[in-house]
Amino acid sequence: MGYNAAMARLGSWIEPNPDGIYVAPADAWIDPASPKARALITHGHGDHARGGHGQVWATAETLAIMDCRYGEQNKRPVAYGDSVRLGEVEVGFVPAGHVLGSSQIILDHAGERVVVSGDYKRRPDPTCAPFVVTPCDIFITEATFGLPVFKHPDTGGEIDRLLHRLHAEPDRCVLVGAYALGKAQRVITELRGRGHDDPIYIHGALERLCRLYEELGVPLGELRLATGVPKDELRGRIVLCPPGALNDRWSRRLPDPVTAMASGWMRIRQRARQRNVELPLVISDHADWDELTRTIREVAPTEVWITHGREEALMHWCMTRQIKARELNLVGYEDEDD
Ligand SMILES: [Zn+2]
Ligand SMILES: [Zn+2]
Repeated sequence: MGYNAAMARLGSWIEPNPDGIYVAPADAWIDPASPKARALITHGHGDHARGGHGQVWATAETLAIMDCRYGEQNKRPVAYGDSVRLGEVEVGFVPAGHVLGSSQIILDHAGERVVVSGDYKRRPDPTCAPFVVTPCDIFITEATFGLPVFKHPDTGGEIDRLLHRLHAEPDRCVLVGAYALGKAQRVITELRGRGHDDPIYIHGALERLCRLYEELGVPLGELRLATGVPKDELRGRIVLCPPGALNDRWSRRLPDPVTAMASGWMRIRQRARQRNVELPLVISDHADWDELTRTIREVAPTEVWITHGREEALMHWCMTRQIKARELNLVGYEDEDD
């Protein structure tokens, strides 16, 4: 390979490692899986944000979430739309529409622009700022739902199914499994948006993050802790818990719960059955196939690098459109709709 060919390779200053993406001229890691001196964090989910880093560069909301989960961080907040100079790289944060505080990270260096999507979605989410399309040379994207079969339905319709079930069986409660960060607050906010003003009961594991969302300006209406509440008070009510509590001892004290779960994976019957979910709600915080491909069209990159998820179909889609695609196979990102 000649000198010119080497120079022509886009993004040679971005080093994908099993541990995360290393940005050499900034001496910084994006969403690293182990402690680093300088970390740039896309969002607060546990597979992206971990404790123990030196400096943590992220939005103020993501930093607050990390403080809440891991204790006090060495915080370097960057607001959406602002950028900072780290070494020889201009680093910016723009909304990813995934959960509160979630960002894409923009890296400008040597006349090239690289955008790291983190996890993202394109549908409206009342709990966070919408995804911002940022044209770039290399788009480093997730592909959790990177198969054409994944088409998430309209969220309002899923919430209506939940409310319909609740009202149809007023002697039972509906127990909804939802991840503690993002999904739980989104389900609550979507319910409020559909006119459900009753108190919503929550498992203790959801309390801190719900309170933090409220402190950060996302109103959730009246929430009550479900623990210790008499059975009769919970009839006709919605109760939220982390997915792990759906089938454990905790839920046995509830009045004949209709077991529901809010996740993009609920599209797959077998996944619903595994968790004994009677009412699967297809509500996802990740882009579905149409959102992934629409986003790549809009971002119009020269190259697409895929961090995690189902890569093959998206690689093929890119290649048939003359977009160079590459899979990074980063480990440690969970195969979850978190
Ligand atoms: Zn996430
Ligand atoms: Zn993730």
